[in-house]
Amino acid sequence: MCAIVGVYGSENAAKNAYYALFAMQHRGQESSGISTANGSKIHLVKKRGLVTDVFDEQSFDALKGRCAIGHNRYATAGNDSLFDAQPVFARYKLGEISVAHNGNLVNKNEVRNRLITRGAIFQTGMDTENIVHLIAKSQEDALINRIKDMLKKIEGAYCLAIQSRSKMFVIRDRFGIRPLSLGKLPDGGWIVASETCAFDLLGATFIRDVRPGEMLIFEEGCEPTSEQVFEPDYHPCAFEYIYFARPDSIIDGTNVYESRLVMGKRLAKEKPCDVDLVLPVPDSGVAAARGFAQGLGVPFEMAIVRNHYVGRTFIEPTQAIRNLKVKLKLSPISSLIKGKRIAIIDDSLVRGTTSRQIVKMLKEAGASEVHMRIAAPEIKYPCRYGIDTPTQTELISASQTPQEIAQKIGASSLGFLSIQGLVESLGSHRQYSLVSFDGNYFAGGSAESPGCNDLGT
Ligand code: AMP
Repeated sequence: MCAIVGVYGSENAAKNAYYALFAMQHRGQESSGISTANGSKIHLVKKRGLVTDVFDEQSFDALKGRCAIGHNRYATAGNDSLFDAQPVFARYKLGEISVAHNGNLVNKNEVRNRLITRGAIFQTGMDTENIVHLIAKSQEDALINRIKDMLKKIEGAYCLAIQSRSKMFVIRDRFGIRPLSLGKLPDGGWIVASETCAFDLLGATFIRDVRPGEMLIFEEGCEPTSEQVFEPDYHPCAFEYIYFARPDSIIDGTNVYESRLVMGKRLAKEKPCDVDLVLPVPDSGVAAARGFAQGLGVPFEMAIVRNHYVGRTFIEPTQAIRNLKVKLKLSPISSLIKGKRIAIIDDSLVRGTTSRQIVKMLKEAGASEVHMRIAAPEIKYPCRYGIDTPTQTELISASQTPQEIAQKIGASSLGFLSIQGLVESLGSHRQYSLVSFDGNYFAGGSAESPGCNDLGT
């Protein structure tokens, strides 16, 4: 979760970062921030709220300079978002620094405790503050070497944009878990962003994905240089394709919408059902539902209407509010549903709250049967690499079979995409991060270690 952007060598660096964050609003709605550097000073504006609430014309008067980094923070329960907004800015021995981070460090508690023992003081709960401290405490002379020093001490998933008063450094962890792409702006400036949908809005040209383990260094008057800091061990996150990324984004050469369509088709092959109509859970299930309907050869209808003015249901901290919000958000078109056998498709099943409400809603609208299909495998393990999944006990598939869950949510049947089906839908030539499904914590951490809600970003 979360979005980062870095802009370098652009006359409109702050505005370009702003529009990129606007395009990537889906990756985080809790807070947003941009810092700019003009060669002698870093300026920072950050606040709780959506991108359009955080920045106004006055912000851009303050955000001077040809380099900007920015961040959208995903809503996580329990954190004081006022303090936890990014970028994180600090003054240290070499001057000023600002850091934006997408991902989740698995050794954040160990690192933090070590720093605290040596006298460090923290202001936020974010692991990004660890990064700033590690850079500040390094004994190296040059910032680049301090960053490399810091990188040796952190583990897990990260995409970083680090800004000094005159340079910008962009780093993707060696697993390439979170997406990060490089593009060129129409005014000749450079842009890196979590998703390519940011480039489309700005008219930027996609150059390439930032490589796993790569550091890009941007300096005035030069082309960006690249250093391979770590041996790559590429494991892109499958959940970006399933749910998180915007459908018009392209990650590692694969369009997100098209991959969801293929997952839906594959699901129809693996878990067919005898129905009259296929419906998506809007918006997250739309592409997969189209694929599922095509696969079955059954009509597809957008027979559930979504109210777009309600936030994502997942973000609410209490179960009672979550239940209400599904109703606030989704409403069925009864005339399309009445008397029909329905297949309803969602991209994923986490706690089972949404599906229970939806099945009830469809039955009340007159559906004779409701078959739930999920275009992802069963989520049995919490992700420690930046997707905000709850604790294992809250994950319904961790303890119950599809049959048991079907009964619980009141569905006639429930079927998930297999792990193999997912991998083959995405292109089986890569090794994906499938940790939520198979519990393979290849980048460190475990089901019990702290998640995004504790100290992550
Ligand atoms: P649940 O009701 O807990 O089973 O959640 C399932 C719904 O949450 C699905 O409609 C998904 O689109 C959505 N979802 C899955 N993962 C996430 C996430 N990390 N953040 C927000 N929403 C999610």
